[in-house]
Amino acid sequence: MMNLKCLFGHRWHGCKCNRCNKTRDKEHRYVSMLEYVKICSVCGKKDYTQAVNLLVTYAVRGDEIARFPISAMEKVIEIGKNLNDIGGISLMTGVYGMFSQQTPIHARGLNELWNGIGEWNDCI
Ligand SMILES: [Zn+2]
Ligand SMILES: [Zn+2]
Repeated sequence: MMNLKCLFGHRWHGCKCNRCNKTRDKEHRYVSMLEYVKICSVCGKKDYTQAVNLLVTYAVRGDEIARFPISAMEKVIEIGKNLNDIGGISLMTGVYGMFSQQTPIHARGLNELWNGIGEWNDCI
């Protein structure tokens, strides 16, 4: 329910309305959680674009289509563990979803490498 006070417009302060506490997806105040994940200190939205970009970089570096290069596997698993530590399965799923859109042929490879991290298992 929208606060009636905001019927004619919210009083936005960054991503959040000062009157009714509604949030919007712009002007977030991001702080770094990891080198590749930021979180908005106001509404809690996570920006993991850099994590996805990093994984894509590793994926496309391989010679074999659809597989991560062996040299990158450890790093990919470490990224999965770090994501799980700060955001659990929901953060991992978010990263996985964006990754799969960018390089669908590698989705299965990422799924396999992350298998067993936190609540992640092959059924995703
Ligand atoms: Zn409002
Ligand atoms: Zn925000």
